[in-house]
Amino acid sequence: MDNPSTGEVIAQVPLSTEAETSRAIEAAQAAFPAWSQTPVARRVLYLYELLHILRGKEEEISRTLVEEIGKSLPDARAEMKRVFENVEVACGMPVLQQGDKLIGSSFDIDGEVLRLPLGVFGMIAPFNFPAMVPFWFIPYAIATGNTYVMKASKQVPGTMQMITKYIDQVGLPAGVFNLVNGDKTVANALMDSPLVKGISFVGSTPVARQVAEKCARTNKRFQAMGGAKNHLVVMPDARIEDTIRNMISSCYGCAGQRCMAASAIVCVGDDTYETICREFIKASREVIVANPLDPKVAREQMVMGPVISDKARQFILEMIEAGINEGAALSLDGRGFVVKGCEKGHFVGPTVFIDVKPGMKVHTTEIFGPVVVILKAGSLDEAISIINNHQYANGASTYTQNGYYARKFKVEAEVGMVGVNIGIPAPVAYLPFGGMKASQFADIKAQGKAVINFFTEDKIITERYWKEP
Ligand code: NAD
Repeated sequence: MDNPSTGEVIAQVPLSTEAETSRAIEAAQAAFPAWSQTPVARRVLYLYELLHILRGKEEEISRTLVEEIGKSLPDARAEMKRVFENVEVACGMPVLQQGDKLIGSSFDIDGEVLRLPLGVFGMIAPFNFPAMVPFWFIPYAIATGNTYVMKASKQVPGTMQMITKYIDQVGLPAGVFNLVNGDKTVANALMDSPLVKGISFVGSTPVARQVAEKCARTNKRFQAMGGAKNHLVVMPDARIEDTIRNMISSCYGCAGQRCMAASAIVCVGDDTYETICREFIKASREVIVANPLDPKVAREQMVMGPVISDKARQFILEMIEAGINEGAALSLDGRGFVVKGCEKGHFVGPTVFIDVKPGMKVHTTEIFGPVVVILKAGSLDEAISIINNHQYANGASTYTQNGYYARKFKVEAEVGMVGVNIGIPAPVAYLPFGGMKASQFADIKAQGKAVINFFTEDKIITERYWKEP
């Protein structure tokens, strides 16, 4: 794997073969009977220990994140906070996994719901949150009594490799947690195995769709979170200075490679459009583009690093070209951006298109880079319909001080996660995370209480005992 800021090879990780993946699945299967019978209060003790170790390693893991993906240190630390939060929530499993009992569901008959673990679960991870996304699932799967095989992204295997070393230190029974590396061969081995009861996939929509179809065919449980194009709707009464600052970090944080990054701004009214175009472009020019580990910028909050690979950069450049060809106005051009001393890095500068119409390729496509399109709408209804006509439906936010507009937006915008004056409405781990439409192919969302339904089978008991004569 290489450092996307410098192009230097930073580590080498062996790719797992199909046979090694099968061995990991078999190890998880072998560990399941004893692990599922281990009292839940004992199971979470391992998680408390893991939390303690990971907290002590926050800085080390954060630096690895920055090195292998190129996000800023504050972003990497924020990612680690979500990792901790998810472990904390899963530590509550002795309460969360409780079932239900109905005394007297009929005459002398009681009903009961048991929430039981199922067996081996698998995970296929994207590159952009190498620590947080796996932790939307791992702690919950393990705490509920399942065993796990996780496939890290081939582009960023280092972080999970390091975290797995710390998971090993807590002394989980062998086979409870397993890490494999590789690409679709390994992913397919996980999906094709009859021993695997369910798959959590997070990545792009075309692959999410394939995963959903494949798992549905074999009656495997699945969660398949896909891509996004998140909109920010600015109302005429928005507080401009706060709004601009907030939008800049939403659009350019992690170089636009967050599934909750905003990449389309919709301004309601001519005046709002003119003000936002002017101020957003001005603020975009001030974003510091650099190697996030450069000591000169390490303390800055808004540093934008490179995109993940040259392939990703080439795709972004193609999309900018497409925007120009379809008549959008390129007001800020991030092509040809070179960071001194990092000439081999995959940098793209902040890029802004104005005069964008719904349906243009730059509006319909997930570009997954620092490219922002600005559109105009005549009313809040029109802005909401732009969102609702889009195939992606992960998140959307509105900027307003008006409760009526905010409430209407919350109720009518067809997306999974809504923000009001929040550019990245990514929920904390105490709440579910997930999108709608082409952004999510399954009904159970990630993290929090919601995901416990994915990792448990409800078994419903109806029982009666006859009175002794
Ligand atoms: P990707 O779809 O290219 O890869 C994701 C994972 O799938 C990787 O582990 C990869 O090895 C594997 N994979 C690739 N092709 C496969 C195939 N044909 N069959 C089986 N497995 C395959 O995604 P990426 O580029 O790593 O991540 C970025 C994407 O993830 C973006 O679209 C982003 O929006 C999305 N994402 C979504 C969420 C969400 O919550 N909705 C969160 C994070 C990232």
